This record gives sequence, C-alpha cells and structure tokens, in this order.
Amino acid sequence: MEGEKPNLEKYSCPNPKCPDFGVFGGGNLVLHAPYGTQRTYLLRCKTCGRTFSVLRGTPFFKLRTPKDTVIKAFWQISEGYSFRKTARDLGVSEDSITRWTNRACEHVDFLTQYLEELGWEEARITALWFYIKKRRKV
Ligand SMILES: [Zn+2]
Repeated sequence: MEGEKPNLEKYSCPNPKCPDFGVFGGGNLVLHAPYGTQRTYLLRCKTCGRTFSVLRGTPFFKLRTPKDTVIKAFWQISEGYSFRKTARDLGVSEDSITRWTNRACEHVDFLTQYLEELGWEEARITALWFYIKKRRKV
C-alpha cells in the first residue's frame, strides 16, 4: 500500500542551518521513493542535501501503527468515547491511545490543520481537543 503522494508545496526543509529552512514552495525539495512498511515518502532538500520523512515533526512520525488507525481513534474520542472503549474497538492498548493523544498535544497546530484537510468539521476538531485534554493523564 502506498501512502498518498505528498504535495511538495506543503513542506519545507527542517534543517535550521539550510538557507531554505522553513521556506514553503521554494522548489528546493524533491520526492524520494517511499520507505518502510507504511511506504512513507522521503523528501530531499537540494539546497543542503538533507533527506527527511514527510512525517517528520508530525504526530505520526515513527508510529508503528498505521495513521488511519490513529485517525480512527481520534474520531472516536471526538465522539466522546473513552480511551478504553476506543482502544478495545480498534484492537490496540489503552496505553497506545494515551501515547497518541500525548503526541497529538505536542502537535496541536499540525494536527488541527491535518484534520481540516481530511474534511473534519471545526466542531469535531474542537470536541477532539476538549476530550483529549479532559481525559489526559498529566
Ligand atoms: Zn535544506
């Protein structure tokens, strides 16, 4: 299974020492072949030569679980389901749910934008953050 082809305009070089660091749509990024069991795409910055995953800096980076499953979990949580029920429905551990939500909290802006792009309504995204914050064990 191949992941969706990334839109290069939405990425920028993550290397702070690169002249094109944080520049979007600068034409410096090229797409590399997908890697790993989830066929994650790699991008390469022509300016500094750095290669990085399209999932870098996202809640999904280095997760072993397919991102569809994580999104399904977030969807259930936004419905008000408990972490326990969500975990049971998806066949994962409750610890995983806790880990994903903790990670989500480190990437609020990214995930909010990501879910918007998936077509989530604003009210649902708001509900998701509400429930995550409410249930989160700090
Ligand atoms: Zn670069």
